[in-house]
Amino acid sequence: MITTKVETFNNYINGEWQESASQKKFYSVNPANTGDVVGVFQASNETDVKQAIEAASKAFPDWAKTAPSKRAAILNKAAALLEEKAATYAEELTREEGKHVNDAKNEVLRSAQTLRYYAVEGQSFTGETFPNDDPNMRVSTEREPLGVVSVITPWNFPISIAARKIAPALITGNTVVFKPSSDTPLIAVRLVEALHDAGIPKGVLNFVTGKASDVGDLLVTHPAVKAVTFTGSTAAGEGIHSKCSFITRTQMELGGKNPLLVMEDADIDLAATLTVNGGFSLTGQACTGTSRVIVMKEVKEAFMEKLIEKTSALRIGSGFEEGVKIGPLANEKQLKNVLKYIEFGKEDGADLVYGGERLTSGEYEKGYFVQPAIFTNVKPNHRIAKEEIFGPVIAVIEADTYEEAIAIANDVDYGLSASIVTNNLKTASQFTKDIQAGTVKVNRTTTGNLINAPFGGLKQSSTATFRESGRVGLEFFTQVKTVYIGY
Ligand code: NAD
Repeated sequence: MITTKVETFNNYINGEWQESASQKKFYSVNPANTGDVVGVFQASNETDVKQAIEAASKAFPDWAKTAPSKRAAILNKAAALLEEKAATYAEELTREEGKHVNDAKNEVLRSAQTLRYYAVEGQSFTGETFPNDDPNMRVSTEREPLGVVSVITPWNFPISIAARKIAPALITGNTVVFKPSSDTPLIAVRLVEALHDAGIPKGVLNFVTGKASDVGDLLVTHPAVKAVTFTGSTAAGEGIHSKCSFITRTQMELGGKNPLLVMEDADIDLAATLTVNGGFSLTGQACTGTSRVIVMKEVKEAFMEKLIEKTSALRIGSGFEEGVKIGPLANEKQLKNVLKYIEFGKEDGADLVYGGERLTSGEYEKGYFVQPAIFTNVKPNHRIAKEEIFGPVIAVIEADTYEEAIAIANDVDYGLSASIVTNNLKTASQFTKDIQAGTVKVNRTTTGNLINAPFGGLKQSSTATFRESGRVGLEFFTQVKTVYIGY
């Protein structure tokens, strides 16, 4: 399979780049051209994980005592290194994940910005003082790091999600064992390299690649691991959560089935643009991607016309091509899953009115390319209306009233993100109250979230514990101690 020389990348344990004890490797391939091998990585086993956790445990006491300004300086330096190499890293990310190189560059830069953000916020993250009746006593809370944190991440935002977990973990004095998705290990290596080159002390950050079935259990059950922060599918999150001890802190950011409501007074052109951007950007592989459009009966026809017009203008191809809006699916499993749901849509009686075919000729021959698919006349109980697909498939469901639309929108197990297109302020504000979603938008795409604002879902989209991102993103990584000092 390998025709040209392909670089091999190692684990990073106790400050050293090292091979796995398993002596086994795996390849990461380009989903736009599966003949292109991006790199060779360590197929780690539990011996590696144990070493990584032990190194992180050993490094914890000193790192917890390290001055916050020193920790911040390391994050800032790593950010500068990522910025310096953003163009090269973006190309690597496009090669291993498939997203457009412009999106990949934005993601690398956003990750650098995340490191900088937490370098500042983490230095002023503190406890509170409490008034009390004793004039000779001061009562306050202090925030302390937890210890070793396992960071487990998916492939769709492989550096920005890792950065928004690792940066708050490190700045608050925790040590980390990081396991990326096996579809995107190279960009994860680059993040670790940046922190290594920025001078992170040995053992503070450790990195192991490999299959979840080989390394996953120990990463979440080892007694020295005090917290697990995970982003990925609801099924995997549920499995991990059930394995963790009750004293292990967990943060699970999971799947979504995000609705966009199009009201009778909506700007129809805007609604179609938001659907296309929210549903098809990143080839529909954003956890906050629009996968259901609930549209009022009276505007449905006009909306469908615009939606199909805008979708048919989207160019499909490699993320290195100018003007490409839809890249490949990230891996074969994704491809099979998306095609399976397109069949489910047809079987359940919805009408496929656009796309949905796998592309296999010419430039698409060696990649996981599928045309974006639009289904109409979808019923709320259809599988494509209920289950996460995580691909470029949009289910359009008709509703007669706002009340019906909200009921449909909420009738799923997920609650990650939702949006409404309307010019009616009353409907918009009512929607923000009625919708069951952790991120609620008006006249904006369901996708996208700020670095400085909280992010997380409701229902099966998150564990109901701690939010990620923003200042509250630091809470997960610290525990509160209440101190009474009498004098
Ligand atoms: P996945 O659940 O298959 O894997 C995610 C990560 O978890 C990978 O590193 C994987 O190796 C690891 N993993 C899987 N099972 C594990 C186990 N039992 N123990 C330990 N580690 C395990 O998800 P994916 O295919 O990489 O990503 C797509 C999913 O991620 C979608 O469901 C999407 O909605 C979700 N996602 C959620 C958010 C969010 O913030 N809510 C963001 C991005 C992606």
